[in-house]
Amino acid sequence: SCALVWLRRDLRCDDHAALYHALRRFERVYCAFVFDTDILDALPRKQDRRVEFIHASVLQLHGALQALSASAGVPGGGLIVRHGSAAQCIVQLARSLGVQEVLTNRDYEPEAIARDQRVAQDLSGLGIAFSDYKDQVLLDRDEVLTQQGQPYSVFTPYKRAWLQKLDAFQLKPYPVALYARHLAPIPVEERLPALEQLGFERTNLQALPMPAGMDGAQQLLQDFLPRMHAYQEARDFPGRKGVSYLSVHLRFGTVSIRALAGLALQRAVQGDEGAQTWLSELAWRDFYFMILWHHPHVVTQSFRPEYERVLWDDAPQLWQAWCEARTGYPLVDAAMRQLHQTGYMHNRLRMVVASFLTKDLGIDWRRGERHFAEHLNDYDLSANNGGWQWAASTGCDAQPWFRIFNPVTQSQRFDPDGRFIRRYVPELARLPDKHIHFPAGMKPLELQACGVQLGVDYPHPVVDHASARQRTLMRFHFLQSDR
Ligand code: FAD
Repeated sequence: SCALVWLRRDLRCDDHAALYHALRRFERVYCAFVFDTDILDALPRKQDRRVEFIHASVLQLHGALQALSASAGVPGGGLIVRHGSAAQCIVQLARSLGVQEVLTNRDYEPEAIARDQRVAQDLSGLGIAFSDYKDQVLLDRDEVLTQQGQPYSVFTPYKRAWLQKLDAFQLKPYPVALYARHLAPIPVEERLPALEQLGFERTNLQALPMPAGMDGAQQLLQDFLPRMHAYQEARDFPGRKGVSYLSVHLRFGTVSIRALAGLALQRAVQGDEGAQTWLSELAWRDFYFMILWHHPHVVTQSFRPEYERVLWDDAPQLWQAWCEARTGYPLVDAAMRQLHQTGYMHNRLRMVVASFLTKDLGIDWRRGERHFAEHLNDYDLSANNGGWQWAASTGCDAQPWFRIFNPVTQSQRFDPDGRFIRRYVPELARLPDKHIHFPAGMKPLELQACGVQLGVDYPHPVVDHASARQRTLMRFHFLQSDR
């Protein structure tokens, strides 16, 4: 018997649900990855860190699968790699390999669900089965429901129920290596396409602290483990190394979510508050996947329908200023530069810039969400959409509409000595800590002494926060009864 495992956002060969099930159930198992032109051709830029990251991770995975099958006495193993429309390539490959089943790990995004349904249908026409497994989240779909059998829309009770369900069984790793003897040699020696053959160019990825593949994930994890206990206290300060930076690895499955949650839970039950808080973040991740699964309308619409009546501004100049990090609010501009220079943005800053776009500039959250989708290395529809709708107050369990972040006090609280601002906005490096959060509050002579002329070296604020806040309260005022 023979099967094909279709890898997508699960670029590893340990603790892998679909691979494990295939190896247990079938005598010969092939593994394949497709550089999907249906996705890649729609990307706006030919320099895309994510494509380069995936490419490097796929290369590593090929080597790891070769080593795994060799260690089990099967020479010639590895990953079959194709470049084309994934939906078509997989069906063709399944047919030409003569497999009885295609196994894959489940996706929760509406477009991916529709694609998988098409593939399942096409395969079924050929007499080939299709099955999918939970792998990228800890608890999915209907595994955590209210007592009335409904999906949760509030995080705190969801997390309570989620923690109760998160037992040893859920966290048990899939012992892929035990069954590695069932890996099949690949039919012909694979030559993995070079990045350029995929139509993409190199980015600055190699200069960033973002090592790819399973090895890269382990490096970041080993770096984070000794810091995990301090997570709760350090995580909100973008100038400090307080977070794990593992999101891109969770996005592409180069690390197992079960392994990460297992490590955190072990410490959390011993009272480690850093681990408890970090585990909560993994719960948020599951929560937003669950929301997307149950409420796919959130992709284009507010979670709460009444919020579709909010009238957003067009404001092309303000939009440009936000995109180009020229708002005159240093923390916002530093954050946007971090995004464009590295593809990463600290969580606190994602909240600050999303709030600034929607509540200071009055611009529709969907535009910001799309901008993030283009630039974030860890872009994940579920978490990104959830984060934007949280900041814009349109989401489930969101920030209430009348709570409006002040970009200056956020800066004073979370970057008190301006360390982060100075890293990305060096033109303000000489400003004293007290003033770096809002240079427009300084006298021209004081600014001059620091080598800054507003409007020349650094922009004037594009809006006045106090009046922007009043406009936003008016914009949302019709929701008064929600208060
Ligand atoms: P850590 O703080 O170390 O957290 C560990 C992991 O928990 C993260 O890797 C991530 O998988 C998960 N996580 C943490 N916070 C959240 C959260 N609020 N929601 C869901 N999962 C979370 N996260 C993404 O992975 N992709 C996105 O596209 C994305 N877009 C966002 C947009 C906005 C407007 C906001 C406010 C948040 C967004 N987040 C997104 C959530 C969060 O900002 C990132 O997961 C986090 O900054 C990644 O850094 P880290 O791996 O060091 O996180």
